[in-house]
Amino acid sequence: MISLHEVFERGTDAVKSAVLAFGARHLPDAVGLNTEPDWKQAEKHFTQLIEVIMGSAATRQPGVAATVRRAENEAIGLLLAFNTVPNYRCPICIKS
Ligand SMILES: [Zn+2]
Repeated sequence: MISLHEVFERGTDAVKSAVLAFGARHLPDAVGLNTEPDWKQAEKHFTQLIEVIMGSAATRQPGVAATVRRAENEAIGLLLAFNTVPNYRCPICIKS
């Protein structure tokens, strides 16, 4: 499955900025000067987002690679859509 980092590396400028915005939704809880995004958390939530899109049954069906690719593309599309909403929250963060 594609990682958030790979999405950033391969993405257009719009995708890169969407990835950065998604990362920025994952600031560590600690109050202080550390405002670097928690990328580990962001990566995990991006993967979970892809899994939600795929649905749990999808991985048991033939043509898994194509299904995964389609879900990855949809997840990237979602990041782009999120990025048009000011102060959006990561849907996985809200769920957990
Ligand atoms: Zn999240």
